[in-house]
Amino acid sequence: MSSPAIHGDALTKRFNSFLAVNDISISVHEGEFFGFLGPNGAGKTTTIRLLTGILPPDSGSVKIAGINLASHPLIAKMLMGVIPEHSTIYGDLTPVQNLNLVGKFYRMGARERDERIQELIPRLGLSEHRDRQVGVFSKGMKQRISIGCAILHRPKVLFLDEPTEGLDVQSRRLIVDIMRELQAEGTTIFLTTHNIEEASTLCQRVAIINRGSLVAVERPEVLKQTFETSKSVQVSFSRDVPAGFLENEDVSRITETGDKFVLYTANPDAVVKEVVHRADREGLTITSLQISGPSLEEVFVHLTGGN
Ligand code: ATP
Repeated sequence: MSSPAIHGDALTKRFNSFLAVNDISISVHEGEFFGFLGPNGAGKTTTIRLLTGILPPDSGSVKIAGINLASHPLIAKMLMGVIPEHSTIYGDLTPVQNLNLVGKFYRMGARERDERIQELIPRLGLSEHRDRQVGVFSKGMKQRISIGCAILHRPKVLFLDEPTEGLDVQSRRLIVDIMRELQAEGTTIFLTTHNIEEASTLCQRVAIINRGSLVAVERPEVLKQTFETSKSVQVSFSRDVPAGFLENEDVSRITETGDKFVLYTANPDAVVKEVVHRADREGLTITSLQISGPSLEEVFVHLTGGN
């Protein structure tokens, strides 16, 4: 069997006395789309920095496709592409110049660089902007160039730190499409995000981190099954409901969006019957009623203790 594409073993990192990453072990299979999900400040970026050799761990080790990152950093780093949380591209250079510079770092020859850049510029939707200075570009366009820089040398493993955060819809879609295409071509993807929906639709497995520790590593659907209590009943009425009307011992949490109430429960059947009964008693008309399976959003609230 081949080595895992990414193997982090018992990684720990402190900043002074603060434990940012606490004994995290992760193995990502070759070709896998792996999600790393956690709230702000959970330790996602620090973990990615440890896995990519930007930060040395206090203890623990990393192997990329079987290559030890500490003892063979150059070989390991040639195997990976990294899209950091904050772009590191040069604002006074054009997309083509940025890509060329990165190609030189990776010791690609002029012809190889040129061919690859010609291929990537249209794929990144940058054809019309190829010769403009990057500094004036939108965040989404800059992010596309960051991706180009990270995949120029055709890495086996791609690390992306919240790549779609704060982007316009078009750039987000393009970046999601590129991640999917790269995975289909065999690239291993390690994606950090705090967007549960993004992780659940894109990833084959999702690790959840909170306060520096791994809380779970699962397929999104397994996580959903694990937390049955996060099923919900969605209901709306033709007029305002009295205060406390929906409170019920079977309901763990109520949220309200527009005219729709979402009642989280382990027992939707009992909740539906009770809501219908109370609505009848109050002479309220129910305008919509639906039962949903657990959302990963709720799973996350459970796993991280609501933090
Ligand atoms: P976000 O989603 O907000 O980017 P994150 O999950 O990526 O969060 P990290 O950036 O890894 O989290 O930060 C984890 C914790 O470590 C935070 O409390 C942060 O303040 C702290 N931290 C990160 N880098 C440093 C540093 N260089 N020095 C001191 N503390 C740090």
